[in-house]
Amino acid sequence: MGSGALLNFGLVAHDDRKQAMVDWVLAHAEDLSRHSIYATGTTGTRLQAACPHLSIKLLQSGPHGGDQQLGAMICERKLDVLIFFVDALSPHPHDVDVKALTRLAILYDIPQAYSESTANLIMKSLAG
Ligand code: PGA
Repeated sequence: MGSGALLNFGLVAHDDRKQAMVDWVLAHAEDLSRHSIYATGTTGTRLQAACPHLSIKLLQSGPHGGDQQLGAMICERKLDVLIFFVDALSPHPHDVDVKALTRLAILYDIPQAYSESTANLIMKSLAG
């Protein structure tokens, strides 16, 4: 992961963390615009509305397979960074997909963040 390189980012946020994801993307929009962004459906739609100048590739919504699409990208070496703002207070009907995605992110050892502080550190490490 060289600095300045074009990377593929996967962005996901659970419902109670979607506004936090919008705020985070707005704060890092200039840096993110150098990279390719993939997002699960509802997260991506919110992000695209808030940041129309960013090009966001929309996957299925998480519960309809979007998390699994990101997992497939990881094992095909097509995803470089996972930013997943997890709601740690509520159970989700697709928890099994969430677990599968995080397991692959760990297995393939891609940079991954589940809340703002680590996401910020990843962006800082990519800044030239
Ligand atoms: P969503 O999926 O962006 O379509 O809401 C996120 C999730 O996995 O809950």
